[in-house]
Amino acid sequence: STNTIHTRLTPMTDTTTPKSLQQIHTATGRHWVGDGFPVSTVFAYTDLGRDLNPFIMLDYAAPYVFEPTERRRGVGEHPHRGFETVTVVYDGHLEHRDSSGGGGTIGPGDVQWMTAGAGIVHEEMHTDAFARAGGTMRMAQLWVNLPAELKRTPPGYQTILASTIPTAAIAGGALRVIAGEYAGIRGPAKTFTPMNVCDVRLDAGADTALDLPSGWTAALFVMEGQVEMADGRALGAGQLGIFSRDGSRIALRCDGPVQALLLAAEPIDEPMVGYGPFVMNTREEIVEAFRDYEAGRMGRLA
Ligand code: MN
Repeated sequence: STNTIHTRLTPMTDTTTPKSLQQIHTATGRHWVGDGFPVSTVFAYTDLGRDLNPFIMLDYAAPYVFEPTERRRGVGEHPHRGFETVTVVYDGHLEHRDSSGGGGTIGPGDVQWMTAGAGIVHEEMHTDAFARAGGTMRMAQLWVNLPAELKRTPPGYQTILASTIPTAAIAGGALRVIAGEYAGIRGPAKTFTPMNVCDVRLDAGADTALDLPSGWTAALFVMEGQVEMADGRALGAGQLGIFSRDGSRIALRCDGPVQALLLAAEPIDEPMVGYGPFVMNTREEIVEAFRDYEAGRMGRLA
């Protein structure tokens, strides 16, 4: 119709309304996951992960030097159900094994994207070589929720090597697109719902912006450096900025170099009940998950 043609010809320049910075959260404290991962929990499904759904947990292990050892460190056999775990390694080398037959070794820049779905048992360890040599470990683990109708999807595993992760140039920096599409660059991760998971690099003196769909959850976790928002507030290392769903642009400025993790996604607005390694929609499903794990119905490591 005439209306459709008219709509197509309307300039798009007025659609870049800003997303407002709603909250700055500082990750505090550190605890060990197994004996291999000294992490700060940036958010979890018990707190901010409710608002950031489908991103329901983020642990960050800032650089930590491990001494050489003969016995490799890590976290032994344990289950998950109802979501995906995404591990990004910045320094160090990890090895993964799971009951679906998935497994692999990942190093700096690599990502493992594990779909727990209906249920999986896995272990997350330092590699033998890293344990023997020692060195710096730096990594992040993100939990991505699955919508109710996909929580029982078969488990799966994606090893995503750094060499397969494309980079989208932005003014004053670049995005490493792990998942989703940014500026026509598509990341390799297969996801069940629309999202962007990107490593953000800003050069010293950058004055730039990120463009994201309006209506999406959006958050930026700063790992190194300090970045200033449009309203003058700043995010430093270890701080998470949470943005409004409304609006489509996040303006960023920095004096020195910045490294951050961008999390943006179509929200999953469903009831959520989590307990330990299980995140479902009802309390009954959590009880069922414990029963199924104890009965061996999530499989075993070979
Ligand atoms: Mn795990």
